[in-house]
Amino acid sequence: MRPELEAHLLHCRNLPSPPAVALRIIELAQDPGADLNATARVIGMDPALSARMLRVANSPLYAGRRRVDNLGQALTLLGFNATLSLALGFSLVQGLRGSNGTAAEQERIWRRSALAALVARLLGGHAGLERLEDLMLAGLLQDVGALALLQALPEEYAALRAGAPGNAALPELERAAFGADHAEVGAWLARHWRLPVYLVDAIGASEDDGTGDAFQACVVASGTIADLWLADGDVETLRASAAARVAACATDGTGLDDLLVQVAAALPEISAMFDLHIAHPAHLDAITDHAKELLILRNLREIQDAARARSEAQASEDQVRRLTEQSRRDPLTGVYNRLQMEEVLEREFATAVALQHPLSIAFIDLDDFKHINDRYGHLVGDRVLHQFAQTLQRLLRSTDLVARYGGEEFLVVLSHSSEVSAARVLKRILEETARVPMAEVEGKPLYVTFSAGLATHGTTRQFADARSLLQAADDALYGAKREGRNRVSQHGQ
Ligand code: GH3
Ligand code: MG
Ligand code: MG
Repeated sequence: MRPELEAHLLHCRNLPSPPAVALRIIELAQDPGADLNATARVIGMDPALSARMLRVANSPLYAGRRRVDNLGQALTLLGFNATLSLALGFSLVQGLRGSNGTAAEQERIWRRSALAALVARLLGGHAGLERLEDLMLAGLLQDVGALALLQALPEEYAALRAGAPGNAALPELERAAFGADHAEVGAWLARHWRLPVYLVDAIGASEDDGTGDAFQACVVASGTIADLWLADGDVETLRASAAARVAACATDGTGLDDLLVQVAAALPEISAMFDLHIAHPAHLDAITDHAKELLILRNLREIQDAARARSEAQASEDQVRRLTEQSRRDPLTGVYNRLQMEEVLEREFATAVALQHPLSIAFIDLDDFKHINDRYGHLVGDRVLHQFAQTLQRLLRSTDLVARYGGEEFLVVLSHSSEVSAARVLKRILEETARVPMAEVEGKPLYVTFSAGLATHGTTRQFADARSLLQAADDALYGAKREGRNRVSQHGQ
């Protein structure tokens, strides 16, 4: 990698870094004396991660016959290695969602990664491989270099991605622009984080031609199939290369269509596990209908078993339901989390379009929050986040919604609000935030400011979907940061 790029990445104040719990898990993975008990202690400290591990143990992907209702049982069922890989994947996905005005693009990258994780795991099964969770993790982290580039060079890299005709074209464009592609940057980052060597290698080779060993071939194929799933233009070329990759990996005769059906079946689980909303693309409907018939004939029993496992898991799980409700909320602030918000936003958007009501949303990002942590410590930072979320809720109508979108970034959905009234609400929140301390440190009040980006689907401007509206608010937020922070910036003004 070019030394200038490496230096730039190292000095980028936003370079993604693993959260504390992921660091502990990386340590455990390298500690020959570590065991499940030690792992359970680390995971147990993080309620969101514990809930996710429980959920995974009860999901149809892993489901045994027996309901799993505590963390210890879940980890025993999964085993030490699988637990480490899954926990590392979950904690990284949660922890690496930074924000610098590129939230929507990051979301697209994570969506591809989560799909690729699922595909890599399924393909590994069809290739007769054993380290399925390692494969899943490699699938998940293959684009971590793209996240790093997005943090380090947000404008340049977002423009490069926007101009690329497809994911397959990215590496070459990246090499021309930065002297390294995202696979290389990802491998460098993985080494820097001291991730296990197999991951460093898998990430580094994730854009190769897939002729490496079977493990690597599954990782490479997973990216292509995720691209196919997410494609919205001409999909025929992608389909052909995806089919070839599946044929090269699967030693049990599974074809692309079969695999897509399995992806469709596991999609709700994967979306929930990674807090992402992944839609079922229209261009796959015909394929999957046809393939479903084939698969049903061939694997009727397997499907019945899976269905039974799922209904058992569903029927008997009060505790998991409670955890699920918990998992809709962000544990630190009590407001909705991103997954819940995305569902709500899709619904609100559809309603606004159908009833021709205006709908406004605002991305709110605390200013220079890193300084608060650096200066007063994370605990004070956490208190500020909590208090700020409460303030938001207090100042909004009960029909408005607040979610914590990532670290110190919140999303507010103001249904029935025009540009003018949404701007008024945001202005009031800005003023109130300046007036009310968010914490007290050594007897002194601590104040924060924020920047917000506002976008309205209404009479002046209509958006095609909720995602474009989100992107517009994100762009506006970026504008507010650029103009000097502590302000609200309105999209299109
Ligand atoms: P900007 O004005 O550009 O938004 O600067 P910033 O420092 O707010 O933004 P940046 O994205 O660089 O840093 C965000 C910080 O938020 C870094 C991270 O440590 C902190 N953070 C994220 N999640 C949490 C959390 O749950 N608790 C605490 N205490 N800090 C968090
Ligand atoms: Mg931020
Ligand atoms: Mg910030």
